[in-house]
Amino acid sequence: MRISDPKIVAGLATLDVELRHGTSLAELTSLGIGGTTDLLRINKHESIPSLLRLLDENHVPHKFLGGGSNLLVGDGDLPWVVLQLVSPEPDIVLEGKLAHVDASADLGRTVTFCAKHDLGGMEGLIGVPGTVGGALRMNAGAYGMQIGTYVREVKVYRAAQRKIEILRGHQISFEYRHTSFAPDDMMLAVTLELPSKPFKEILEGIRICNEKRRSSQPLGQKSAGCIFKNPPGASAGRMIDELGLKGLTVGDARVNDRHANFFVNAGKASAKDMLALIADVRERVHKAYGVELENEVVLWNA
Ligand SMILES: Cc1cc2nc3c(=O)[nH]c(=O)nc-3n(C[C@H](O)[C@H](O)[C@H](O)COP(=O)(O)OP(=O)(O)OC[C@H]3O[C@@H](n4cnc5c(N)ncnc54)[C@H](O)[C@@H]3O)c2cc1C
Repeated sequence: MRISDPKIVAGLATLDVELRHGTSLAELTSLGIGGTTDLLRINKHESIPSLLRLLDENHVPHKFLGGGSNLLVGDGDLPWVVLQLVSPEPDIVLEGKLAHVDASADLGRTVTFCAKHDLGGMEGLIGVPGTVGGALRMNAGAYGMQIGTYVREVKVYRAAQRKIEILRGHQISFEYRHTSFAPDDMMLAVTLELPSKPFKEILEGIRICNEKRRSSQPLGQKSAGCIFKNPPGASAGRMIDELGLKGLTVGDARVNDRHANFFVNAGKASAKDMLALIADVRERVHKAYGVELENEVVLWNA
């Protein structure tokens, strides 16, 4: 989608929103798949209510991008624009055990920044790409921990009320790869309350998690992490592996040889290829185990 109406272009400039025409989402996502559209880069949280009013009044559909590490985006000319927060400087401010973090902050850098100031708890998240906002949306977690545990409050734009609100941690439910945020809520900033731990101890935890990741995941290849959520009490990766599906391909979309729940773009995979592979694996798992696997990866018009 291309924004060319001079009224909208002028409105964006007034709101300090940068308009980048014809952005390739293949370049903004870890899977390296996706067509093109206009990207709107938001410099100030305060612009968001007016920005969304402007887009809605002019019938411009939109989606919200974090770091693009959990997305499978459709091919070709995309029928919506993409919004993304620009990181303020600084994007993390510490106050005792509290870390005030902008949603656009890189998750890994947040973990290491807090670690250097003797604040731990998030060691398991090292190696999870993307932003803090994206991690909040899906309650990212690994190795027995999840980000939701540490959330004290979240600054969120609530589309239904058309305003920015502060939600306290107890007002939000965080479950396995699921939160109670509305689908059109936008996380803008979070305050995390983290346990004090000596840097050396946190570093050791980070080292262990890094090692586990290195030995089990296809790092350095284009993926979106796990394609499917684990069904209650089971492992999607183990089921796919037991069916001998590692290495299964559709075009350049491939079930990874190391981690069967990671599907990689081994070259020039299209969204169509990846979707066909996902559907094929889902069907085979359903046939063999009677389990309907649910996507962990988010599909955008794919
Ligand atoms: C190699 C690799 C390893 C991974 N390992 C893990 C893991 O161990 N555990 C895990 O949980 N995940 C893992 N992931 C998946 C992914 O990194 C996480 O889900 C991450 O938190 C997504 O953040 P993002 O900013 O990239 O979100 P995006 O991919 O940009 O967006 C994902 C969804 O969140 C929404 N979103 C993003 N930011 C916001 C915001 N500020 N407000 C509202 N909605 C927003 C988007 O609209 C979209 O619906 C892995 C991915 C890769 C590539």
